[in-house]
Amino acid sequence: MNWDEKIDQGLQDRERVDAYRHRLAIADGNHRFLTYQGQRYLNFSSNDYLGLARDPRLIDAWRQGAARHGVGSGGSGHVTGYSLSHQALERRLADWLGYARALLFTSGYAANQGIIGAMAADGDRILADKLSHASLLEAAMQSPAQLRRFAHNDAGSLARLAGMNTPGNVLVITEGVFSMDGDSAPLRPLTAETGAAGGWLLVDDAHGFGVVGDQGRGSAWQQGCHPELLVITFGKAAGVGGAAVLCAEPVAEYLLQYARHMIYSTALPPAQVCAIDAAVSAIIQGDELRERLRLNIARFRTGVAALGYTPGPSASAIQPLLIGDNRLALALTGRLRDRGCWLTAIRPPTVPPGSARLRITLTAAHQPADIDVLLAALNDAR
Ligand SMILES: *Cc1c(COP(=O)(O)O)cnc(C)c1O
Repeated sequence: MNWDEKIDQGLQDRERVDAYRHRLAIADGNHRFLTYQGQRYLNFSSNDYLGLARDPRLIDAWRQGAARHGVGSGGSGHVTGYSLSHQALERRLADWLGYARALLFTSGYAANQGIIGAMAADGDRILADKLSHASLLEAAMQSPAQLRRFAHNDAGSLARLAGMNTPGNVLVITEGVFSMDGDSAPLRPLTAETGAAGGWLLVDDAHGFGVVGDQGRGSAWQQGCHPELLVITFGKAAGVGGAAVLCAEPVAEYLLQYARHMIYSTALPPAQVCAIDAAVSAIIQGDELRERLRLNIARFRTGVAALGYTPGPSASAIQPLLIGDNRLALALTGRLRDRGCWLTAIRPPTVPPGSARLRITLTAAHQPADIDVLLAALNDAR
């Protein structure tokens, strides 16, 4: 197959299984509403769980940061891109979350690739929850370590894999709150099994950070666990973008030597770091936002169950409705859009075959009446 044939074939493969992806150019997608082709929709697809992406405190911080520092960092953190703002945010995150060190990355994707790439060597084993995010599984597959997946949220399954005594280090990987199912990992049993195997635990808490735990410190704090590697991202509840890993002192120094996605990449713009810092303040003071989100989640779950849908086992802002068939899931999103509600059909390969779903995300920016509009639309659309 030459290049042209290969590309043609690849596109046809996706089309044949109704998994062809398009991007739509959206106006105001980080908001309670979004506008598409001049039409306004209620937005049930945003990961901006606390509604911080438009918070005046964050906008101000970004503006002032840009006025003071300009708009770009000017280089990798290993050259001149690491500023006093970066240093102060890392210190603050580490102290707040109870770790010796925090290191910033430009994205959660880069953090996971960089960390796993630096940690996993030939002869090591990575044991990952089988529903872990693509950025985690891909990094594991690309590493020279052996990847095994344990059954979703199943510490017993992890124990069986971990118990097979082989030389080499064990890195156990899970999410805190799962991105496609919204359910939470049982971090205490997973921590225990990881410890029993002499391994380390990496928790990617992209969807728990800011939302759960005291002050929004996330899933690990909520469950009283202290994973060796905790990844948090700032593109979801923090409303900005970027990521950090929390870890022990020598681990941070090790990652600074070996995490290529940090070393060979331009550091976060300092103005963005200022906005993330303001987001952390907003998260710490965000009990009212978290309460509003909690009430929206409860309203949705009660309402959708009354309609005869089966909501998943999720207490989080991510509320999937399992549909199964790709085409049906797409048809449903079309009908919901006709009724003014914007949400996305998530299809394989993002989720396992036959588990296409409507991924509904709720935020603190939604009004209770918005939830009722969605419930009415779900009732009509069926
Ligand atoms: C979104 C997400 C990422 C990627 O983070 P970005 O900052 O958007 O690159 C990583 N892990 C999980 C679980 C995510 O949901």
